[in-house]
Parts: sequence; structure tokens; C-alpha cells
Amino acid sequence: MKIAVIGSTHAGTAAVTNMANLYPEAEITVYEKNDNVSFLSCGLALYVGGVVEDPQGLFYSSPEQLRGLGVTMKMQHAVQEIDTARKQIKAVNLVTGEEVNDSYDKLVMSTGSWPIIPPIDGTKLDNILLAKNFNQANTIIEKSREVKHVTVVGAGYIGVELVEAFQQAGKEVTLIDGVDRILNKYLDQEFTDHVEQAFIDRGVELRLGETVTRFEGKNTVEAVVTNAGRVETDLVIMCVGFRPNTELLKGKVDMLPNGAITVDDYMRTSDPDILAAGDCCAVKYNPTGQAAYIPLATNAVRMGTLVARNLIEPVMKNVGTQGTSGLHIYDLNMASTGLTETSAQAMDVHVKSITINEKHRPEFMPTAEDVMLKVSYLPDSRKIIGAQVLSKADVTQSINTLSVCIQTGMTIDELGFVDFFFQPHFNQPWNFLNKAGLAAADTRKAELV
Ligand SMILES: Cc1cc2nc3c(=O)[nH]c(=O)nc-3n(C[C@H](O)[C@H](O)[C@H](O)COP(=O)(O)OP(=O)(O)OC[C@H]3O[C@@H](n4cnc5c(N)ncnc54)[C@H](O)[C@@H]3O)c2cc1C
Repeated sequence: MKIAVIGSTHAGTAAVTNMANLYPEAEITVYEKNDNVSFLSCGLALYVGGVVEDPQGLFYSSPEQLRGLGVTMKMQHAVQEIDTARKQIKAVNLVTGEEVNDSYDKLVMSTGSWPIIPPIDGTKLDNILLAKNFNQANTIIEKSREVKHVTVVGAGYIGVELVEAFQQAGKEVTLIDGVDRILNKYLDQEFTDHVEQAFIDRGVELRLGETVTRFEGKNTVEAVVTNAGRVETDLVIMCVGFRPNTELLKGKVDMLPNGAITVDDYMRTSDPDILAAGDCCAVKYNPTGQAAYIPLATNAVRMGTLVARNLIEPVMKNVGTQGTSGLHIYDLNMASTGLTETSAQAMDVHVKSITINEKHRPEFMPTAEDVMLKVSYLPDSRKIIGAQVLSKADVTQSINTLSVCIQTGMTIDELGFVDFFFQPHFNQPWNFLNKAGLAAADTRKAELV
């Protein structure tokens, strides 16, 4: 059996390592445009900020390691065409220019995503950079050394992490987003207010609700112009989101309107010999039951592993995702799973929410930090549909617990009586998750009276 894999960061590397073990007789060939595999982009801001000093720690595999598993690694090879009828691919060696033709019995599509570059004048100026792969991380570090002022466009989690990194490195920083608050896809306003204040307290300029209209400069960027003003700047990092890298299969397999490949529960595309995983795909989003585009490394490694298991026949189902994610900005720890009230409203899903504000552990302990937990649920079925937490104490694992609750269809009332441990170092006798469940039951009683 000949298996071709296109792309080897997280989804591809997970698929390849598992396939090499499961199918030792198979002939596996990986085509990868970059000169490295498995770069952990999640460490990019930490690397830029100097927290991670040795960049080698940002890789958990290497072409040599995969070759050691018997895999043929065609590094710095870009696949240019896929003939799905003949099951053939054409690639080019980016170093020599040589054309490579190959055939496959099974194709694993793990081409991931690429940052969106909005159609704005001036995006080609020098010092307007993207933040995705290792080479780009190195360019950001190199270019930022000399500059005084940095502008980050896009206040999602990547933009926000970079703002923190640049501010801590002593740069003047402006953060611009068209939406009127940061992190609006992950957290509701009462949470993001705290994070915005943390930036304001440290002198970061927030220009929210402003749209970038153009970049100005001769060769190198000198200013960002928005619908509300002008920011003089030396360096711009574009963090406005990602689009799936799926041009190669356009019109050949089913996709969402944004180009994300749709896969079934077993990672099979609409072409029986092509499986796909990671950022190039849509995922099953449990809170709505619909396919959604949620590019996360967590989804990528799980899907890549499932591709390997289901390559020959469907044996292991994808349980789907809640889009669970976490973030650490200065001394604030936050995490969310499933729908927020903001995202529910945008999707026309009616939810109710309970918010618990309390200390993370008893106040007789030397320190006790505030915790804000919000749990959202469907009013009729009372099933938990989303949750958010923020605290200076690291209570983010509670969101993983609530992710399980969403996945298994637990109701808010059942949450009130789940068995959680108590130990004064860590928490209160009534865990704040239980309290959310109990409070929801109280509101219901009040409504019935
Ligand atoms: C700055 C940053 C921080 C992040 N932080 C987190 C985090 O904290 N937690 C989290 O869960 N996720 C995080 N993510 C998201 C995560 O990095 C992605 O979800 C993950 O990289 C997806 O992996 P992938 O293998 O599907 O795709 P990608 O990482 O996009 O990799 C695709 C690979 O395919 C190759 N390729 C594409 N086209 C071709 C072709 N034609 N021929 C050959 N090779 C090709 C590319 O070179 C690339 O190596 C972060 C992303 C960024 C950019």
C-alpha cells in the first residue's frame, strides 16, 4: 500500500507516526514544503518574548526521526497538483526545482492553514509580518530587535499573546481590531474587560472597533491607517485569522464555503481514498452538532491519529470538539469551552448562564484569588453548552472538566452534585463547578414560583 501525506506539522506528524506503527508494510511518503516538521506555533509568542530560549524545544519530532520509522521524507517539496481520478500527485523540489511525480493508494491531506491577509493597500511593505511557522517566528524576532513601536492587527488569542510578548520586551505596542473588544470569540465581555485593563495598565494602546484601511511607507511600513486615525509604527504583525490550505482539492472533495474539507466521523473525505485532518478540515462541533472551522493543534493531533486508525476501514469515531482553549496573559489565567453568550447570540442559539464569583480556596489560606466562572446551558434540555473561567489562580483545568460535561451531554442540574475533591490548598468544600449547578437549580425554582 502506497500512502502519500501532504504536510507534516501536527496533523501530518500524528498521522505518519501512527501509520508507521500500524502499517509497517506500507510505503509512506511525506511531502512537506518547510524544512522542519512539528513546529509548535503555540510557543511562538513565548519564543518572541524570550521565555523560550532554545527553539529546538518547540519541535517534538524531526525529519530524521520520521525517516527512522521507515518513512520517505520529501522535505522542501511542495505538492502542486493532485489527480484524484488517477491517484497521482505532482510536486516540486523547492531547492532544485526538480519535478516529482508520484502515485498513491491512500492520500492523507494535512496541509493545514495559512494566515488571512486582508485585501488592504500596502500589505506587501517590508516589516508587515505573519505569525505562523518557525521561519516567520525567527523573522519576527530578528526584525523586532531594532524597532521601537509594534502594531498587532487582530485581537484573537495569537494577537493578544504577541502584544504581551512585545510589551514585556519593552516595545511600544498598539493592538487594533475591528470588533470593539479583544478575544471576542473565546470569552464574554465581563472576562475580556479584565484582560483589556491589564493591557491598558501597562501602556498598551487598544484601538478596538477600528478597521485598518491601509498601510503607508516607502519600502518599509511607517504607519497604519484605520477608519478612525493613524498610528506611526515600525513593525506590523497580521493576526486576523486563518483560512484552510485546500486549493489542491478544490472541486474534488466536499468543503465548507470557506474551503475547509468536510470529513465524516472517521476522517474520510467525500473521496474514498483521501482522508484529511487538522486545520485544512472542518470539525464536528458538539455544542451545535454542526461542522465548524476551529483550527487548533488539539484538534489536529487527534484527527491525525484518527486518520491512521481509520485509514483502511472505519474503526474509531471522532467524538468531536468543544473548541476548548486556554490563555495566560500577565497574571491572568483563562480558558473557555463551547459557546459563549456572544457566540450563541451570533448563531441564534438561546442560552441561559450562571456566573459564580468566589475565592478559589478558603480565605484562611495565605492567599486566595478571585475566580469568575460562567456556565451556559440550553434552557429546555438544561444541557451544558459552554463555559468560561478567569482567575489569577490556575483553575483552567475546570474548563477541561466542563468540556467533558458538554461532550457527554450533562445537564447543569447534574453538575451541582458531581463528586469533586476538596482540599484547602486547591479549592473550597463546595467546588465552584458544583456551585454553578446549584445556582442554576435555584434560578429555576425561582422561575417556577
Ligand atoms: C502563533 C500560533 C499560536 C497557536 N497556539 C495554539 C495553542 O496554544 N493551542 C492550540 O491548540 N493551537 C494553537 N495554534 C493553532 C495550531 O498551531 C494549528 O491548529 C496547528 O498548527 C494545525 O496543525 P496542522 O498540521 O493541521 O496544520 P499546519 O500547522 O498549518 O501545517 C500544515 C503543514 O502542511 C504543509 N503544506 C501545506 N501545503 C503544502 C503543499 N502543497 N505541499 C507540501 N506541504 C504543504 C505546511 O508547510 C505545513 O507544515 C496556534 C497557531 C499559531 C499560528
